[in-house]
Amino acid sequence: MRIRFWGTRGSLAKPGPATVRYGGNTSCVEVTARDGTLIVLDCGTGAHELGQHLTASREPPICGHLLITHTHWDHIQGFPFFTPLFVPGNEWDVYAPQGVGQRLEDTLAGQMEYSYFPVSLRQLGATIRYHELVEGAFDVGEVRVTARYMNHPGLAMGYRLEAGGVALVYATDHEPHSPHQPDAPGPAAGQSLPVHRQDQEHIEFLAGADLVIHDAQYELREYPTKRTWGHSPAELAVDWALAGGVKRLALFHHDPLRSDEGVDRLLETCRRRAAASGRPLEVLAAAEGQVIELARPAVSAVHDAPAEGAAVPSRLGAAPAAATVLIVDDDPDIVRLLTLALKPEGFGLLSAADGDAALAIARAERRDLLLLEWNMPGKDGLQVCRALRAEVDPGLREVPVVLLTGQSQAEHTAAGFAAGVTDYVTKPFKPSHVVARVHAWLLRGRQREARRGAGR
Ligand SMILES: [Zn+2]
Ligand SMILES: [Zn+2]
Repeated sequence: MRIRFWGTRGSLAKPGPATVRYGGNTSCVEVTARDGTLIVLDCGTGAHELGQHLTASREPPICGHLLITHTHWDHIQGFPFFTPLFVPGNEWDVYAPQGVGQRLEDTLAGQMEYSYFPVSLRQLGATIRYHELVEGAFDVGEVRVTARYMNHPGLAMGYRLEAGGVALVYATDHEPHSPHQPDAPGPAAGQSLPVHRQDQEHIEFLAGADLVIHDAQYELREYPTKRTWGHSPAELAVDWALAGGVKRLALFHHDPLRSDEGVDRLLETCRRRAAASGRPLEVLAAAEGQVIELARPAVSAVHDAPAEGAAVPSRLGAAPAAATVLIVDDDPDIVRLLTLALKPEGFGLLSAADGDAALAIARAERRDLLLLEWNMPGKDGLQVCRALRAEVDPGLREVPVVLLTGQSQAEHTAAGFAAGVTDYVTKPFKPSHVVARVHAWLLRGRQREARRGAGR
């Protein structure tokens, strides 16, 4: 598997004398598998140069797969400038997480409307097929792709690509679920894993990879003022890579304010952190133009049958049916804030101001997910969650519960998960973050139901 970086910058293209070495273009990574399968990870401004290169260096038709993590500008701005899409005869499959409400094609067409861009999506000459993804695995050529939601204000996917016995993980636009800030160096062997279950699952997603390309926009000391912006401190990317036994880590999605010297310093900090752990982890900072070959010639390709719950990419997947969210909080301001954030997404909304009312509504009405405050008079959020998990009706017992709380200590998080909460969100949160979580858990719940239906 051959990897080439065409854009490594996060948030905003930043060309100039301060970014010459690591590059100023936004996210775009070319991956070529041994069988020739071409995969492009994200379509930021780096895609312009990649498109030129492909057109100049390959015989037509030029066909490939474009895996978009999410539709924030820095991941799609190169799309209207990616020349292979303009040439009749070329065929491209475009994948991105399924949203609720707007189709991928419409979102991409939005930035090509007449006010923004002179060529419309329909005028692209290539055959383009759109696939909207949920979590799971599917095959592209010889490459097994596994998709997993990242933690970002906007539903974003990370991708794990496996072929020929090697694994690459592309995990950008992600921040820790847990608010705890470890100041110690990377975890030594045997040190306990993070208490937030989603952070553990993130480590499992990275585990054993030959290369992880990871969001590393911030330094740990900058991070407290950047929490909820959806990006990782580089030092935590190191800790997760160490915990997952990753071989190589490429710091990625460089902050537009970080100069080449700044990236050098951050890289040095990360290398020291990795070395202090005593484990073999090579850390590099992704640079535009850099090429990395992953090969394991001695090991034959492991290519299993499709994983259970495989996300078969749908062509223009239908928007999921409306779901109902029950908001439980004694603070009317929070209820109002969440209502304003969720209403435009087309969700049905119910609310309750205390635990007993919440349980009564949950038992009587359709509710596909609960947003549940921990601290309330009467029954608190944990008691409500324990009561739900003890119900006979599987629809209640397994309903996703996202706990909202100001309690950020590790023991509180652990207590939340012990009570059966599905996810744990610490205040202050961004409404867009909560909306992304709601989408992720509803889509996960729907997949679980579909699997259960298929098993009957
Ligand atoms: Zn980004
Ligand atoms: Zn983003």
